[in-house]
Amino acid sequence: STNQNTLFRVENLRKEFGKGFFALDGITEEFHKGEVVVIIGPSGSGKSTFLRSLNLLEIPTEGKIYFEGVDITDSKVDINIHRQKMGMVFQHFNLFPHMTILKNLCIAPMKLQNKSKEEAEENAMKLLKRVGLEGRANDFPSQLSGGQKQRIAIVRSLAMNPDVMLFDEPTSALDPEMVGEVLELMKDLAKDGMTMVVVTHEMGFAKEVANRILFIDKGQVIEQNQPKEFFENPQNSRLKEFLSKIL
Ligand code: ADP
Ligand code: MG
Repeated sequence: STNQNTLFRVENLRKEFGKGFFALDGITEEFHKGEVVVIIGPSGSGKSTFLRSLNLLEIPTEGKIYFEGVDITDSKVDINIHRQKMGMVFQHFNLFPHMTILKNLCIAPMKLQNKSKEEAEENAMKLLKRVGLEGRANDFPSQLSGGQKQRIAIVRSLAMNPDVMLFDEPTSALDPEMVGEVLELMKDLAKDGMTMVVVTHEMGFAKEVANRILFIDKGQVIEQNQPKEFFENPQNSRLKEFLSKIL
């Protein structure tokens, strides 16, 4: 049952793409406040579909999603209000290319949260300082490296003061030397107590930062555990096979 500590409760979530193919095939999960949950699994197993369902970028075929106690799958609910509380970071940074970095950080707080320009800019500059990019405020995204763009994408989400951050392979599109700086920022967020759901292939991050790791295969959570047990004592044969390929 849902209690005060529960941020998301997902009940028997299913997503059908085309006749009889279920990318999600009955997922029931709870994510708690302050928890860092890492999701791993083979390509095409439903990880992105699951993450995108949490903020209803994908509309579930069946099942329910409660966010902060509200059934957001109820068609009477205005999802945009709840979505503002969920930051989402994708593999490709999705910055607004024609806006400066500063504007990228200010646009949503001003448009969606009615922040004044001054307030939004002050907060944006704090966030830019946090990632050491305050000197780039007036640059455009194309002037930044991939790692810088992704750190900007993360703080742009933080500018909305979200209750949870959803990450879909945030380092998969980066040159290897830029992966570390993005993971460091994510570790920082975790230390600050941010609730995070992270789809990633970075097993070092999973071991070090996750409270719980879920293994998704064929649209189902096949196994889950705390990192130590998960890696040292996997039970399911499909998980064992997956780990033997990636570790
Ligand atoms: P993962 O992120 O684990 O690689 P996805 O969630 O992207 O997997 O995809 C799960 C399955 O659903 C895959 O077979 C994929 O081809 C299919 N799929 C994803 N999105 C769509 C869509 N919009 N239309 C049809 N099939 C889709
Ligand atoms: Mg994916």
